[in-house]
This record gives sequence, structure tokens and C-alpha cells, in this order.
Amino acid sequence: MEQPVKKPEPHARDPHPRDRGGPAQPMLIARDVRKYFPIHAGLLNRQVAEVRAVDGVSFSVMKGETLGVVGESGCGKSTLARLLMHLMDRDGGEIILDGQAVNAYQGMPLSELRRSMQMVFQDSYSSLNPRFTVEDSVAYGAARQAGVSRKKAREIARDLLEKVGLRARLFGGRYPHELSGGQKQRVNIARALALDPRMLILDEAVSALDKSVEAQVLNLLNELKAQLDLTYVFISHDLHVVHYISDRVLVMYLGQVVEIGPVDRIYADPRHPYTRALLECQLSMDPDDRVDQAPLAGDPPNPVNPPSGCRFHPRCPYAEDLCAAKQPALGDTLRAGRDDHLTACFMAQPGSGHSRAPGPADLLKRAAAHPAPMEA
Ligand code: SF4
Repeated sequence: MEQPVKKPEPHARDPHPRDRGGPAQPMLIARDVRKYFPIHAGLLNRQVAEVRAVDGVSFSVMKGETLGVVGESGCGKSTLARLLMHLMDRDGGEIILDGQAVNAYQGMPLSELRRSMQMVFQDSYSSLNPRFTVEDSVAYGAARQAGVSRKKAREIARDLLEKVGLRARLFGGRYPHELSGGQKQRVNIARALALDPRMLILDEAVSALDKSVEAQVLNLLNELKAQLDLTYVFISHDLHVVHYISDRVLVMYLGQVVEIGPVDRIYADPRHPYTRALLECQLSMDPDDRVDQAPLAGDPPNPVNPPSGCRFHPRCPYAEDLCAAKQPALGDTLRAGRDDHLTACFMAQPGSGHSRAPGPADLLKRAAAHPAPMEA
């Protein structure tokens, strides 16, 4: 007699059933993403202005890659993370996950997005329900969203706790207040992995940890990425951490991308004055290596009324008339390859009209320092 075919449980299926385009297909594409927060005032509560928190951001993240996102506080990093996760509606632009547009009304449904993409927040304590044990917290997502049985969800939770370096028998029954900061963040990572996602958005995920615990969690993230074939967007204000974990880095200023490229190239040869200033602000491990002058003067301008032309021009020591009149283009981040280094500054663009724009000799030097990869 023919045996009925047993339907596999969601967690037992191929972990990447939707890997339609293979490794050449970017895992995530953000195209001209915008978010403006309205400001209301007056008796009639009319909209009088808007804060341009994210203003025309485009980039892609390849499968298996870690894209670091850096910038001062208020530059739009965390708003961008929430837009990618659809925790808030965007005002424009497109988000495409593995070739499929994500939209509440058409394209990939949000439930599918949440299974494929998860987020880890900075505040490890308030991310956990204080009434749930560690095992319940991790099992909850798998039971509710992946639709597995309670027994299976508990098995998944115990397995994930071991994966993130917490012995399930010892920690499974504990409550969040019984854990250290590092242990809580490990639970949050396990919880994010409970739905078997393909991508994690890590928003300042190690910023609240002390340095030794931070290093352990970073190593854990690297191990999990290799083991589970994950892709990361890693948001942080700590440039040492971003350098350590990222393959490429994206620099944001006042809601826009000002520089993007391979992390080693950007750290060795930053071309945007803002990136240079950020890197000069990094604390040195050498106590004799002192910085006497602040590398960046003034506060970021008001995003309600951003400066004309290049938004960095009121703080830029190299600003010329051209910079206030015209906005420098970044280039097509979606067509650029993994090795391309793009900068939204007239000083980096030959023939821009800026007195410091690179000439033929500079371009030759640049090409010699970073030869183009050979075609296969
Ligand atoms: Fe400075 Fe002009 Fe470059 Fe903007 S475009 S960063 S103002 S030099």
C-alpha cells in the first residue's frame, strides 16, 4: 500500500528555498528609500515642515556579506534599519529582498519578510519579555511565526541556545533579570535566529556591552554567519567594531549616503572629508597618540532645513562656491561592484570644477593602488 507523503515541518525544509537568483543576486536592494517625519504646529495642527531622516538612500547587500553602516547620531542609521524591517512605512523608494519587492499590498508579504529578515536591537533587556524564561522567549517566535509544534519550538530553542554559547540546561529556565548584558544579547541573537532567517539587521547590537563581552559577541556573530550562511547589515557608531566585522561600509550624513566601498579601502583611503573626520575621531589604543584639535567642527545642520548643495558644506574645510550651489552625485550604487569605492564629493570626482578635483596623475596613482580585478 502506498505510504502518504509526510509534509515536512517549516524548520525542516530547505533553509534557502527562495534563493532564486543564486549568489549573484543581491540579498537586499534599497533603491531611493525616503522617510520624512512631518512636524505639525498651530491651532489646526497643520504640517509646517518635515524632518528628512532618510533622503534617497540606495545600496545593495550581496549574499553572505556584512555591510557596516556608520555616521553620527541623528544621521538616519536607525530609521534606515526600521525601514528595511518594515517597522515603519517609507515615504518613497523600493526595498527588494532576494529579487522580490517587499510591499504590504503586493509583492512579498510582511510575514514572509519577517521570516527572512530579523533584527537585533541595542537594548538587550527591554527586547526580552521579563515574564518569559529564556527558552520560552526563543521558542515563542518559532511556535507563532514558523508554525511549528510547541515541542519542536522548544527543541529549536535549546539547539539555538547551545549555538549562541549558552548551555540550554543551565540557562533555559532563567529569566532576563538573572542574566548579564552579554548573556541577554546572546538570547536576543538566538531569538532572531529562531525563524531561520537569511539576514540579520544588527542595530548597535554590541554598543551597550563592555569591551571583552563585545569581542565575544562579535566573534559569535562571525561564527554564526559562516555556519548558517547569513547576511548582515551592521549599524554602529563604533568604527573599530565596524572595521572588524564588515566587508563593505556605508557612511551616512544627514539622511544621505556620502561614501560606500570595501571596508579596508575606505579605512585606508577615505575620500569624503566627513569620513576622514569620523576616522580621525576614533580613539587610539596608544595613550601617547593624542588629538589636539577636533577633526570636525560644529553640530550637524538641522535636517528640517538641510543646507543647499552638498549637505556637509557648512562644516567642510574644503568647501567652495560650487559645493553650496550643486549637490555632488554619489554614482550608481546599485550598478557598482563589490570593489567599487563611491564618494559624493566634488574633490573625488575628476572634472567636477573643484580646485582639488583629481587630475590625470592622481587617477593613475589611484589605479595603481587599487588595480581592477581580472575578469574570469
Ligand atoms: Fe566638502 Fe565640497 Fe566635498 Fe561637500 S562637495 S564634502 S563641501 S569639498
